[in-house]
Amino acid sequence: MSEFNGFKKVLNNPFSRRSFLKLSAVAAGTTALVGCSSSLKTISENTVAADDGIKIIPTTGPNNCGGRCVIKAHVKDNVIMRISTDTETDDPRNPQIRACVRGRSYRKYFLSPDRLKYPMKRVGKRGEGKFERITWEEAVETIASEIKRIGKEYGPGSRYVNYAWGYNAQIHPMNLSKRLLALDGGYLQFYNTYSTAATSFATPYTYGTASTGNTPDDWVNSKLLILWGFNPAETIHGSQTMYRLRQAKEAGAKIIVVDPRYTDTAVGFADEWIPLLPTTDNAVMDAMAYVMITENLHDQAFLDKYCLGFDEEHMPEGIYAGNSYKSYVLGESDGVPKTPEWAEKISKVPATTIRHLAREYATNKPAALIQGWGPQRHAYGEQPVRGATVLAAMTGNVGIYGGWASGAGYAGRQRIGSIPIGENPVKAKISCFLWTDAIVRGTEMGAKDGVQGADRLPANIKLIMNTAGNTLINQHSDINKTAEILQDESLVEFIVCSDLFMSPSAKFADILLPGNSFFERNNIGTPWGYGDYVMYANKVIDNLYESRSEYDWLVEVADKLGFKDKFTMGNETEEDWCRYVVAKTQENHPEFPSYDEFKKRGVYKWFYDKPYVAFKKQIEDPENNPFPTPSGKIEIFSQRLYEMNEPKEIPAVPKYISSWEGPEDPLTEKYPLQCIGWHYKRRSHSTHDNNPWMEEAARQEMWMNPEDAKARGIKTGDKAKVFNDRGTTIIPVLVTSRIMPGVVAIPQGGWYQPNEKGEDIRGSINVLTSLRPTPLAKGNPQHTNLVEVIKQ
Ligand code: SF4
Repeated sequence: MSEFNGFKKVLNNPFSRRSFLKLSAVAAGTTALVGCSSSLKTISENTVAADDGIKIIPTTGPNNCGGRCVIKAHVKDNVIMRISTDTETDDPRNPQIRACVRGRSYRKYFLSPDRLKYPMKRVGKRGEGKFERITWEEAVETIASEIKRIGKEYGPGSRYVNYAWGYNAQIHPMNLSKRLLALDGGYLQFYNTYSTAATSFATPYTYGTASTGNTPDDWVNSKLLILWGFNPAETIHGSQTMYRLRQAKEAGAKIIVVDPRYTDTAVGFADEWIPLLPTTDNAVMDAMAYVMITENLHDQAFLDKYCLGFDEEHMPEGIYAGNSYKSYVLGESDGVPKTPEWAEKISKVPATTIRHLAREYATNKPAALIQGWGPQRHAYGEQPVRGATVLAAMTGNVGIYGGWASGAGYAGRQRIGSIPIGENPVKAKISCFLWTDAIVRGTEMGAKDGVQGADRLPANIKLIMNTAGNTLINQHSDINKTAEILQDESLVEFIVCSDLFMSPSAKFADILLPGNSFFERNNIGTPWGYGDYVMYANKVIDNLYESRSEYDWLVEVADKLGFKDKFTMGNETEEDWCRYVVAKTQENHPEFPSYDEFKKRGVYKWFYDKPYVAFKKQIEDPENNPFPTPSGKIEIFSQRLYEMNEPKEIPAVPKYISSWEGPEDPLTEKYPLQCIGWHYKRRSHSTHDNNPWMEEAARQEMWMNPEDAKARGIKTGDKAKVFNDRGTTIIPVLVTSRIMPGVVAIPQGGWYQPNEKGEDIRGSINVLTSLRPTPLAKGNPQHTNLVEVIKQ
C-alpha cells in the first residue's frame, strides 16, 4: 500500500477533503516538507493586552492524564479571570490541542481555598490527619536532619522516593527528590510504573523493545481498528488521539471495541462492541488464533520469514516438540483445542462472535489491534500483551502503514530534554508496586521478588519522600493493609509529603508541605507518547498562601546537607532548569526555537509528511535490520521465558491462564462479581476528585448490569456496599446495560474516606484491590478483584 493511500482515503469524504486541501496548500508552500518540518505554533493572543488590562498567558496542565493541552489563562492583577483553550487554525498533520473537561475547571480546582496553606508537622497518630503549623525553616531543618539520621543509621538504601505523578512535567518533583538523595549517598530506586508494568515488561520478550506503535496519524490508513480495552475518550493518550480516531472513522475504517464496558469511546466510534469477562482476554485471543489456523487465514509466509516459535518448524534448537504456539492452540500439547466454543465458556463471548472477530482481523489488511492498559493491569497481565503481538504477526500487520505491532505500542519521534537525576550509588531496585513489601520484609527480598541490581535489598524502607503523589495510600493496592503498615512508626520512621490538598496520602505525612500549583511555577510538558509537540507551562500568578514548589525547598535541604551547588548546577530556579531542558532539546533537535521564543509562544509542533511505523525497516529489509531480540526474530516462543522454568505462570508462548480472582476461581462462591476500575473523564487518576465542578459533571458511581442489580434489589441511585476480604467501600450505583453481567466497575481515583467502622465511603476501589503482583513484571493487578455487592 502506498504511503499516501491514507490521504487518498481522506480525499473521499467531505470533512476530510477540506483537511486534505489544507494539507495540500501547506505542502505546496513548503518545499522543505521531506520527512519533517516544524513550527512555533503561536498561542494567538499570547501576552497581548486585551480588554481591561487582561493578559492572556499560555500554559499547560500537568495532570498525569496522557494529554498536554493548550491552556490560556486570562489574568489581571495576579488573578486568573478565566481559562480558554486552543482555537488556532487546524492543520491535519498536527491539529489543535484542546483542553478536556478537566482543563476547563483548572481554575476552580487549583485555586481552591481548600489548598494546603502552610507547612505542618504531624501531632496525632500517623494517618489521623492531625497537624500543627510550623515555619518553612523548621520543616527544611527536620527533613535534612532525618535524611541524614536515617541514612547513617540504616544506610542510604533505606531511603525511598515514592512513585508520584500528580505533577507530570520535565522538571519533575519526584526526580528532583531522587537527585537530592543520589547526591547524599543514594536511595532505593524503583523500576516499572503503576500504569504499564506488564506491557512495558512483556512486550520486549516478543519484539526486543516496547516501542511498537505507529504514530496515530497512521490510523487513517487502517481498514479496521480493534480497540481492545483502549478508551482514549476518557484515558487521554495524547490530546489529539480522538481527532485521529475520527479521521480514521471518516476515512472508512471499521472500529470494534473489546471491553467489558460499553465505554465512551465505544459510544462515539464503535461499529461493534464485544464485551468479555475480565482476565479472559487470552481465551478469546487463543480462539481467534484457532480460527485463523483452521480456516487457513493466517499469514504463513510472514510467520515463516520473521517469527520464531509459531509452529514446530520454527522453534529454537533443543526445545522439545509440542512447545510451539500452534501446538498449544490446536491442543496438541495439552489435549485442549482452543476452539471458540472453549473460549465462550470462559469469556462469555459467543463462539460466533469470536469467529467473526478472527475473520475480520485476518481479512481486512491493514488492521490495527490497539490495546489500552486495562487488560494488562490484571493478575496475569503479561499474557494479553503477548497474545495481541502474536495475532498482529499472524495477520502480517507488523511494520506496515495501517497496521500495528500491538504490545505496549509506544511511539515517539522527539527527544525532549529533562533534568539529570544523577548516578545513584545504591544499585538495588524494586518494582514500584512492591514498596510496601520492601517496608515489611525488605532485606529478605531478592530475585524472586523482582529485585534488580543486587542479590538482596540492603535495608528495609525507613524514610519516604512523597512529592505531588497519592500512591502512598490512595493509588496503591489494599489501602487498609497499606495504612496499617504506614501507621506502624517502628517500620517507616519518617515521611515527608508535598501536596496541594489534604489528600489521603498527605494525611500520612510527618512533615506536610504546601505545594504550589502549575499556575504558580514554570515548567515544560509533553504528552505521554502520542503527539508531536512540546509545551511551555508558563507561571501565571504568584504563589498562593505560603505554598512553594518542591524545587524551592529541596534547594534549601541540599544547602543544609552541604551540596547546594552540586544540586542546582547553577540553576537557582525552575525557570533556569527550563532553559537547561530547552538547551538539551536543541541538541537533539537543532531546529528547536530559542528559549524566549518558545516560552512566549507556549507550544512547539513538529510536522511530518508521513506517519512513523514501528519495525518498518525490520520488515522491509530483515537481513540488515534484525529485531532487537536474542534471535533477531519476532519471538512468539521466548527462550528467555522458557528458561525461567515457571511454565504455569510465565509460559514461553502467550496463553490463557485461569486467574486467581477470575471467573473460574472457587472464591466466586463467596464473591460472585468481578470488579474492575477505569480511568474516569472527571479525574486524572485521583487528581480532581475534590473538584466540585467535576463531581457535577460526572459523579462517582459504580456501574452494574440490570441482571445483577435486580438479583440484589438495587436501583440506580441506591447506595451499595461493595466488599471482599480486604475491605468495603460504599458507593452509589448506576444500573446500566453498558456493562456486561457478572462485572461491576468503579472508576478509580476516589479519595479514600473511612467511616468509624473502617468502611470507605467515597467509592475508593483500592480498598478492594490486592497486593499480589503479576508473576513476571511484578506489576499491579488492580482490575482483578472478586467482590459481593449489597444494597446499603
Ligand atoms: S486533564 Fe489532560 S487532557 Fe484534560 S485539559 Fe488537562 S492536560 Fe489536557
